[in-house]
Amino acid sequence: MESKNTEKLLDQKPEKMPPVGKLFVITGPSGVGKGTILERFFEDNKNIIYSISQTTRKPRPGEVHGVNYFFVSKEEFEKSIENDELLEWAKYSDNYYGTKKAFVLKALQKGADVLLEIETKGAQKIMEKFPDCITVFFTPPNLDELEKRLRGRKTEDEASIKKRMDTVKEELELSTIYKYTIENDEVENALSKLQAVYDYEKRPENEMQGEYCTENEAESEAGRE
Ligand code: ADP
Ligand code: 5GP
Repeated sequence: MESKNTEKLLDQKPEKMPPVGKLFVITGPSGVGKGTILERFFEDNKNIIYSISQTTRKPRPGEVHGVNYFFVSKEEFEKSIENDELLEWAKYSDNYYGTKKAFVLKALQKGADVLLEIETKGAQKIMEKFPDCITVFFTPPNLDELEKRLRGRKTEDEASIKKRMDTVKEELELSTIYKYTIENDEVENALSKLQAVYDYEKRPENEMQGEYCTENEAESEAGRE
């Protein structure tokens, strides 16, 4: 997922950015296809910034530090919790995952749209802090298909597949709390639904001035952490 527009957009002058940034949160069970769909989504949508998370998980073949994740040690992660550097974090399948606070708040302050791809507990924390964030929950056609996708990806060992599948029922039970639910049956189908959500949320009449991005709001959000 190289082309996440991150540095390019952050380097723009504030006056060139749209006036108000929106926070999009993409969530759903592991293996449902979030990464696959987002990779395509970012190819067509250059004005939204992907928030690169921090994790203690080991990189998979092909994953790059600073592109897919910031890969850190358990000690480093715990230090960033202590130092209040994360907007949210969660322990998932024996590893820590978290969203870098300064990065997201700075991007929102500059008026950029930001997209988080995070698991459901983290998504719920973001919903509490940013009630107007736009949440999208991806569901699989069924549990067998989800497990088939997880196995087919060939990135997880048996224990990790089991841990991931163990959390799915709980994750699906809460699917109604999100603003949008999209079934990832076919990639093209799910992608066009995500695009429709984004286009709808970006319509001028749906823009809420100052929603996240006044400096005061971001500062007080940072202070509240
Ligand atoms: P996530 O990011 O949600 O963990 P991935 O994007 O890594 O999931 O997808 C898991 C696996 O499922 C990958 O091997 C991917 O190619 C496959 N996949 C994704 N979407 C679909 C789909 N609609 N139909 C079949 N396979 C899919
Ligand atoms: P994976 O190990 O497959 O890359 O990710 C496992 C799960 O962690 C996925 O559901 C992914 O969305 C989630 N995740 C990735 N980054 C973050 C983050 O910063 N915070 C939280 N809470 N979850 C994350």
